[in-house]
Amino acid sequence: MLVQLNELLQDANAKGYAVGAFNCLSQENIEGAVRAAEELRSPIILQLAEVQFPCAPMELMAPMYLEAARRASVPVAVHLDHGQSFETCAAAIKLGFGSVMFDGANLPFDENVAITSAVSRMAKAMGVDVEAELGKVGDVGVDDDKVDVFTDVEESAEFIARTGVDALAVAIGNQHGRYVATPKLNIARLIELHERNSMPLVLHGGSGTSEEDFKACIHKGICKINVATAIQVGIADDVKRYADSTERLDYITMKGIMVEASQRVVAEHIRLFESNNRA
Ligand SMILES: [Zn+2]
Repeated sequence: MLVQLNELLQDANAKGYAVGAFNCLSQENIEGAVRAAEELRSPIILQLAEVQFPCAPMELMAPMYLEAARRASVPVAVHLDHGQSFETCAAAIKLGFGSVMFDGANLPFDENVAITSAVSRMAKAMGVDVEAELGKVGDVGVDDDKVDVFTDVEESAEFIARTGVDALAVAIGNQHGRYVATPKLNIARLIELHERNSMPLVLHGGSGTSEEDFKACIHKGICKINVATAIQVGIADDVKRYADSTERLDYITMKGIMVEASQRVVAEHIRLFESNNRA
């Protein structure tokens, strides 16, 4: 069933688990993710990031996300990930996304507050939930060691009060993409952020974090964890294995392999995030 982000995050926040937010780029990807959620009786979030629009256009993906969510026997939220402008957030809302993220983390603080507030006011009027980001979540390969890139505790409280967002993505040493080495997250900072704000917190860059760090996160205020790269790698690996095993590729067989790979990787993360049997 199609639900709102807030509903899922409030329950996760109250009970100390996290809901996986899976970036899906195809019908096979979506189907596998929903099957995993149904198999494990878990809520999930299907999400699409603006940087993914060139390979998975929002206008084509939105109806598929929404219909998959409506048909699912478990709660599924449909979310815009990393909207880069007010306009993209507005367009996503028109297409039926139940929640949007505006990512102003790279902007100066006041500018991030200004645009996030505008998105938030517009979204609230439309009954849509909002996620924002404060602090810099790095990208793998980009060196960020010269400054403190972790989300500041006092700034986070001010940001939440001024913008009225429903969930905040934090930077605690997490990175987007495929890690070269397993990162060590700043759990002490997460605990401070969680104590200062009762708000559901979000962890981006959920591919390749250690199990120990994941567990610490979900028990210390992280209610949503974004996973993109791990699913893509899982699908590509299984397609390669299939391609290596046969003389002639069969497209329908390959589609089935993609669904199964998506289901397997999503299921692994659902168990890790302890959202199974919460639906
Ligand atoms: Zn992200």
